[in-house]
Amino acid sequence: EGVGVMAASDAAHAEALCGRDTGGLALLGLAPSAPSCPHGPALLFVKTSQGKEEGRRFYACSACRDRKDCNFFQWEDEKVSETRLAAREEYNRTHQPSHTHGQNVERYKNFVLLPVSKRRFCQECQQLLLPPEWEEHSDHQLLYDISTAQLQSPSQLLYPLENKKTNAQYLFADRSCQFLLDLIIDLGFSRVLSVGTPRLHEMIQSKASKEEDFRVRSLLLDIDFRYSQFYTEDEFCHYNMFNHYFFAGEAGLETCRKFLRQGNSEKVIMVTDPPFGGLVEALASSFKRLMAMWKDTDKEDPISQEMPMFWIFPYFFESRILEFFPSFTMMDYQVDYDNHTLYKHGKTGRRQSPVRIFTNLTPRMIVLPVEEGYRFCSICQRYVSSGNQHCEICNSCTSKDGRRWKHCFLCKKCVKPSWFHCNNCNCCALPTHACEKAAAGCFVCGQAGHKRSTCPSLSRS
Ligand code: SAH
Ligand code: ZN
Ligand code: ZN
Ligand code: ZN
Ligand code: ZN
Repeated sequence: EGVGVMAASDAAHAEALCGRDTGGLALLGLAPSAPSCPHGPALLFVKTSQGKEEGRRFYACSACRDRKDCNFFQWEDEKVSETRLAAREEYNRTHQPSHTHGQNVERYKNFVLLPVSKRRFCQECQQLLLPPEWEEHSDHQLLYDISTAQLQSPSQLLYPLENKKTNAQYLFADRSCQFLLDLIIDLGFSRVLSVGTPRLHEMIQSKASKEEDFRVRSLLLDIDFRYSQFYTEDEFCHYNMFNHYFFAGEAGLETCRKFLRQGNSEKVIMVTDPPFGGLVEALASSFKRLMAMWKDTDKEDPISQEMPMFWIFPYFFESRILEFFPSFTMMDYQVDYDNHTLYKHGKTGRRQSPVRIFTNLTPRMIVLPVEEGYRFCSICQRYVSSGNQHCEICNSCTSKDGRRWKHCFLCKKCVKPSWFHCNNCNCCALPTHACEKAAAGCFVCGQAGHKRSTCPSLSRS
């Protein structure tokens, strides 16, 4: 799997650059009259081929791209009978968590009153247990003597939901989490809207409870309801970032609005680390609505800029993100994860992470750690990876992946070091790419009888 992600991204990248289209699904968005599944309003999709819509439009679950997790499906023009509508409502009602957030807050209050020797956590049900419930879980795998420290790091207690297509919980390595928090503090922010970043949230919450002069506050928005066992309604909202849906309805929306409004809204930053499965346009539309909530907050003195944001996402989504947020810049910082063997830092001999920070803050303000090899490019006015060389022709530091890129005069831009210019495709690509004229001939000129390394057209130039 590891190599797959990088290779697949390279391939997608190459394809996009060569202007080919493989077809797929296009998201049409959030329709006002969309039907709902247990994850809120469904999204409208259509099949595409060569960039054109093909076939009937349909609604599908916004949160789960794996049909096993939520199989909601409805044609846009389908007539749904009253009986089916009633059954669907019943299904949505019964597929909600067994406890409400309010109940979980009460349970937590009782849980912390227990002596440590009576604090148990069921690993199978992913639930804190109160003594009367022990019996029910007697043949489940339990954790005993849950400490206050454990309660303060629920992301360590809960197992990460690694289901690739739905939750894809990849937790920040401590180093990256600490870096983000230090950066947020150095930039002068005091409130963090943590959207799908439970580990950043818990680092902030835990410091706030231990250090008296620690002023930063965080509100977590996440679809993982297990977190409602550890945080109050002012600290956690059950939220779906693909359709901007607050499961608690108006109350959740109000909590979020209040958090953005409190005191000085200039001190708020949103940090998000969504699952990488795609649907960038759905995410962008939700984030724009969160930004609008922030902007709405200060009516007397309307804030002209955008809510500051860190959107953590792989570098190969750069053009997609910039399509929706032209004011964003991609930073070179490589975000590391604990439970992801692939996305670890290269410095220590491990594989390089393709995950970056996209932000609407001025790039030069994002100071990257010199001790990890980042340096300041005075021409670009931003911190870059040590391997990222300033290209005189492009007049910018062009590497996206931390390796030194090379300039291609035919493509008129810098490309990955492993790429070569293919004269058949008329662009740079991996030597192993599926060439348009997939002849057995030379990669460079396409003629039979020799390989790239001995191509006569190369020795001429
Ligand atoms: N690196 C982050 C975790 C990122 S993993 C950290 O360490 O804090 C992605 C997060 O997004 C998970 O917490 C997951 O529960 C959440 N998530 C996944 N799908 C979501 C959705 N549709 N809406 C809101 N949150 C979602
Ligand atoms: Zn669903
Ligand atoms: Zn530069
Ligand atoms: Zn260049
Ligand atoms: Zn080229």
